[in-house]
Amino acid sequence: MAGKKIGILAMQGAFLEHQQALSRCGAEPVLVRTARDLEAVEGLIIPGGESTTIGKLMKIFGLDSLIIERVKEGMPIWGTCAGMILLAKEIADSQQPHLGLMDIKVKRNAYGRQVESFETDLEVEGIGQTRGVFIRAPYVEEVWGGTKILSTYLDKIIMVQEGNNMLATAFHPELTTELDVHKYFLAMA
Ligand code: GLN
Repeated sequence: MAGKKIGILAMQGAFLEHQQALSRCGAEPVLVRTARDLEAVEGLIIPGGESTTIGKLMKIFGLDSLIIERVKEGMPIWGTCAGMILLAKEIADSQQPHLGLMDIKVKRNAYGRQVESFETDLEVEGIGQTRGVFIRAPYVEEVWGGTKILSTYLDKIIMVQEGNNMLATAFHPELTTELDVHKYFLAMA
C-alpha cells in the first residue's frame, strides 16, 4: 500500500483529516478538485461534510460523471458519512444531486436530535473492533444486489461494501486515531 496515490474529493468537508490518516498509512494523498487531479489517482475518498453542497460542487466542476466512469471501470471509492449519501442509489426524501453508484438506500440525519453526534466502539467484519464517530450521520435503510453489510450499530446498517471497489461508512474513521478502516480501503485499492 505504500506510495499508493489516493484522492480525496476536496470540495467541502473533512478532507484534511483523511489526508493526514492516509499519510500516516504510508499512502500518497492527493486532494482532488479537478478532472486532472482525478486522472492521477488510483482510488478516491469522498469525505464527510454537507452532502447537498458536495453534490452540487461535484456537478459544477464536472467531476460527477468522471467519478462514475472511473468507478465503473473499477476504481476503488470510499464514502464517509456525506460521502456515503453521495454514493447511494437512493436517498430517502431527497432529490439532491448524487452519484448513485451503490445498491443502498440511505436516510440522512437519521439519528434524532438528542443523539445527533456520538462516538462508540463498533464491530466490523474483516476488521474487528474499531471506533466510530457519528456526526449528524446517515444510516442505510436498505441494501440489495451484491451489497454486503460489514457493520451494524443498534440494529442499523452503518457500513457496507459492494464488489471489491465500493465502500461506505456512516461514521468518520478519519476523526479517530485508528487507521484500520483506511488500511482496509487501501487494501482494496
Ligand atoms: N448530515 C450531513 C448530510 O446530510 C452528513 C454529515 C456528515 O458528513 N458528518 O450531508
